[in-house]
Amino acid sequence: MDQTQIEALRAQAVTPFTHIIDGKQVAASDGATLDVISPIDGSVLTTIAKGTVSDMERAIASARASFEDQRWAGQPPAARKKVLLKWADLIEANALELAVLGVRDNGTEIGMAMKAEPGSAAGTIRYYAEALDKIYGEIAPTSHDVLGMIHKEPVGVVGAIIPWNFPLMIGAWKLGPALAMGNSVVLKPAETASLSLMRMVQLAHDAGLPEGVLNAVTGEGAVVGEAMGLSMDVDVLVFTGSGGTGRRLMEYSARSNMKRVYLELGGKSPNIIFADAPNLDEAAKVAAGGIFRNSGQVCVAGSRLLVEASIHDEFVSAVAKAAAGMRVGDPLKLNTAIGAVNSETQLLQNLGFVKIAQDEGGEIMAGGTRILEETGGYYMAPTIVTGVAPESTISQKEVFGPVLGVTSFETEEEAIRIANSTVYGLAGAAWTSNLSRAHRMVRAIRTGVMHINTYGGADGTVPLGGVGQSGNGSDKSLHAIEKYINLKTAWIKL
Ligand code: ADP
Repeated sequence: MDQTQIEALRAQAVTPFTHIIDGKQVAASDGATLDVISPIDGSVLTTIAKGTVSDMERAIASARASFEDQRWAGQPPAARKKVLLKWADLIEANALELAVLGVRDNGTEIGMAMKAEPGSAAGTIRYYAEALDKIYGEIAPTSHDVLGMIHKEPVGVVGAIIPWNFPLMIGAWKLGPALAMGNSVVLKPAETASLSLMRMVQLAHDAGLPEGVLNAVTGEGAVVGEAMGLSMDVDVLVFTGSGGTGRRLMEYSARSNMKRVYLELGGKSPNIIFADAPNLDEAAKVAAGGIFRNSGQVCVAGSRLLVEASIHDEFVSAVAKAAAGMRVGDPLKLNTAIGAVNSETQLLQNLGFVKIAQDEGGEIMAGGTRILEETGGYYMAPTIVTGVAPESTISQKEVFGPVLGVTSFETEEEAIRIANSTVYGLAGAAWTSNLSRAHRMVRAIRTGVMHINTYGGADGTVPLGGVGQSGNGSDKSLHAIEKYINLKTAWIKL
């Protein structure tokens, strides 16, 4: 990847995107479209189809038909594996094109997007392709006059609703295991980051995925997402996004067919720095990266920095220095460390949280403002707020922006109490040289992922799942497969 290749891709006009239903490009039933605004400069990049309820119903019917005739689920595992491996290869072969398209749509800095988007999506699809012929049913330990068998069957039609921060990575976390286990899928990308995911769906068809097995409908969550949630013909709903939408999806399920709903929601993840951390400079740099990369639009972002009082001032200065060294700007420039905020709405919401933090007694030590407004794009300076009380708004509510709240603590017990004092439980970290303390922190902090002496980077071999209001069910690893199968018992009298 070099700057010249990126600029050549940036210069290309983006043709309008439609839905993909039954393997075909399909416009919205009423022809409506939504403008796609690039957060890089606020310009209109292209359009996507503005889906209607009937578009969603048509996509679900297509998925259902493809599942009923077993055109995918009925193929031998080796055949499904071949298609998925080919798909992963195509994602890799088109990685730069996908990454640049995605960045023009959602603003993530290109260095991170290349790795976290096509790179990780290809790896995820390949992981589940390789796993699919290694998953066996079970035989129960019964008496000898019966045979108890447990079959693992696909559930049928999976609905997947994807957010805008990492559409390919998170899309692949759902699509990989769902398709590997033989399900048919209807996908709903986010309004503000549909393009690269729709292109990835096209590549699945180029790889030989049969028509109707993977359908994708773009448009507004409140219209097509709701229609998916209320459908009587979707068996499992998988979602990553905000708690408010997650709550609605559970209601839709209760009001319709009681479909299983798996949610990966927000977090307010604590990054806890003890004075005995092995390398405080390293910890400061990683802490800055852990909240400011992708403008803080990362579900596991370390948004609460808890620092032992004896090193508080020195450590926070080191984080501020690291943040000052991260160049904010055009996300398609290779030397940019922090790209654009996804949308103007999101930017205004971030600034609103900064104002609340100040009103509640926090001190803005760095950032706090919109920058580069002359570009027309949506950029925000990395923001550090000190003196943040554990019960204050920015300690309790997910900002989903480049805003770090700092709180100091005196003892390990106090750090644990503060860390566990939100409704969330997605990720966390503790930095210490004390082995026993490290293990105590892993046990004591209520999260899905606990890092020690690092932040982020847990790969596809381990699950990512929240506790509390951060969600249920895990993405990644073999554990994710459980969401996409039914267990069926065969009880046979011999
Ligand atoms: P965020 O606040 O991060 O944008 P959302 O939860 O609003 O998170 O969006 C995540 C995904 O959920 C997007 O694909 C969006 O279109 C979808 N969505 C939003 N509202 C609804 C809804 N009422 N029903 C179903 N899906 C929705």
